[in-house]
Amino acid sequence: MPIQEAQFIWRNGKMVPWAEATTHVLTHGLHYGSGVFEGMRAYNTKHKGVVVFRNREHIERLMFSSRVYKINIGYSVDELMQVCRDVVRENGLDSAYIRPIAFLGYGEMGPASQACDTDLVIAAFPWGAYLGEEGLKNGIDVAVSSWRRSAPGTIPAGVKAAGNYLSSRLVSMEAKDRGFAEGIGLSHDGLVSEGAGENLFIAIKGRLITPPAGASILTGITRDTVMTLARKLGYEVVEQAIPREMLYAADEMFLTGTAAEVTPVRSVDRLAVGSGERPITRQIQDAFFGLFTGETEDEWGWLDPVD
Ligand code: PMP
Repeated sequence: MPIQEAQFIWRNGKMVPWAEATTHVLTHGLHYGSGVFEGMRAYNTKHKGVVVFRNREHIERLMFSSRVYKINIGYSVDELMQVCRDVVRENGLDSAYIRPIAFLGYGEMGPASQACDTDLVIAAFPWGAYLGEEGLKNGIDVAVSSWRRSAPGTIPAGVKAAGNYLSSRLVSMEAKDRGFAEGIGLSHDGLVSEGAGENLFIAIKGRLITPPAGASILTGITRDTVMTLARKLGYEVVEQAIPREMLYAADEMFLTGTAAEVTPVRSVDRLAVGSGERPITRQIQDAFFGLFTGETEDEWGWLDPVD
C-alpha cells in the first residue's frame, strides 16, 4: 500500500514540509541499520476525540531501544509524547499511523561510530488495517516460515531497531510469495516466536497462550493490551513456550500489533484453526476496539487526547 502523504513531518525540533524531510545517501542508519523506531496509532474516538494510543509506552520503548544502540535522543519522554500529539493535530489527521524514528545520520562510516549526530523524526499519516479489513473480520491464512528469528545473544529481538526488520522482510516475503497473508517465525530452537510484525496468541480450552520474551519476540504493546483486557474478561493468560504442533491444536489463534491490531488467523500451514468459531478472539477484538468507542472503559489511561 503506497504511503498516503500528510503535510508536515517533525524533524529535529521543527515541523518541515513533507517533501523536505529527506536525508543524505551516506547516512549511517541507511548503511548499518542503526535506527530505532516506533509504530503507533492515533484513533478517532467517540468519547475523547482524537487520541494517541499508549503514547507513553511507545515512547518509553523508543528510549529503551535507543539506549541499547547508544543513539542519543536528546528529548524527554514527555517532550516526544507532545510531538506525537502535535504531528497528528497539525496534519489535521483524525486517525493515523505515527512513525517516530531516531537514526544515526551523516558524518562517519563504520558500524561502531559514535560521532554521527542523531536524526530524530516523527511522521504521521493515514493507514488502514495492515492485514486488511477482510482479515480483521474473517481471519487470515498464515504459514510458518523457513527462516528463523534472530537467536538470543545475536541481534536483540526485544529492541525495535531498523536492522531487525530484515528478518521480518524474509519471513513476510516468503509467506506472501507462497500465497499467505503473513509468516510466522520460529526461534533458533524451533519454538514459535512471532509473526513478521505481530505477536501471536493461541487459545486452547479457554486459556490464552503467547510465547515469552525469551522466544525472540518484540514484547508488543498490543500484546500487553490484549493480555490486560483478556485477564479483565476473566481469561487465564500464560506466557509459555509453544512448540510448532501446538499451533495445529489451537481452538483459536490471532496476531496482535499496532498495525495489525487484533487479527484472527483462520488457517496455519493450510490447516484450519479450530472449528472456525472464534468466541474468545471476538470478545477480545470487541474489548480492544471498544476502547475507541468508549464501550470498554479505559481504566489504564491508555488514550492520550491530542487536544
Ligand atoms: N513483533 C514485531 C516484530 C513487530 O514489528 C511488532 C510491531 N511493532 C510487534 C511484534 C507488535 O508490537 P506492538 O504491539 O508494540 O506494535
